[in-house]
Amino acid sequence: MESVRIRRELLEYLLELAREFYPNEFAGFLREKDGVFEEVLIAPNPHFGRSSAFFDTWMLPYDESIKGTVHSHPGPNPWPSEADLHFFSKFGGVHLIIAYPFTENSVRAYLSNGERARLEVVD
Ligand SMILES: [Zn+2]
Repeated sequence: MESVRIRRELLEYLLELAREFYPNEFAGFLREKDGVFEEVLIAPNPHFGRSSAFFDTWMLPYDESIKGTVHSHPGPNPWPSEADLHFFSKFGGVHLIIAYPFTENSVRAYLSNGERARLEVVD
């Protein structure tokens, strides 16, 4: 399984965001530095809802450090939806899904082909 590295502070912040937005989804783009995800950019005007197709409606900022996305699922299912998989394949990179109840154990990382990746938390 491929590994994806994320800074602990960022992971904790993402979990907080997921809890704050609940029962809605939140979504953002992930910025990478030296092979580690360090920062999230939250969409200014996302279309929150039960379908993750809203990613398609975003204007992606031109930023080469953006290497992935994150979004929350308001239910306990951490698996990508059809819309998620379609989006992952178009975007490339790495994609995090944070499922309810938004703890470290409810985070899953996926590659653009839908395969799971191991999430490695870096202090
Ligand atoms: Zn989703």
